[in-house]
Amino acid sequence: MFEKLEHLGIAVKNIEKANELFADLLGGTYYKVEEVASEGVKTAFYDGGNVKIELLEATKDTSPIHKFIEKRGEGLHHVAFEVDNIEQRMEELREKGIRILNEKPKEGADNKLICFLHPKDTHGVLIELCQDKDKVAQPLDEEE
Ligand code: ZN
Repeated sequence: MFEKLEHLGIAVKNIEKANELFADLLGGTYYKVEEVASEGVKTAFYDGGNVKIELLEATKDTSPIHKFIEKRGEGLHHVAFEVDNIEQRMEELREKGIRILNEKPKEGADNKLICFLHPKDTHGVLIELCQDKDKVAQPLDEEE
């Protein structure tokens, strides 16, 4: 169902500060920094060898990352799996009784369509599904 572990998302209070540490630990700087305004986050992506690392800082108080840090502090926020057909996987998961936090796939960072599964249905782990936008075979219905 899932192709592979694509990245780990880590919620941080200050992305500049976190960047210093992760650049040091991973032996290189981020390869991409991107703000996703709709989600209220700033992200930095690192090549972690076999999996990417995504740092996330909230850019507004209504951001899910802000709420997460308020409640639980900094730390591992989500694990993201790559899928080949996000809409189909969402449908299959719903049939299995797993709730999905988005009605439709939405625009994520790093040129991806994404959705999140309800952590209460996945043993407390927030799982993101992502599909490379370049690998979407059919244009989405709403993009008319
Ligand atoms: Zn992510």
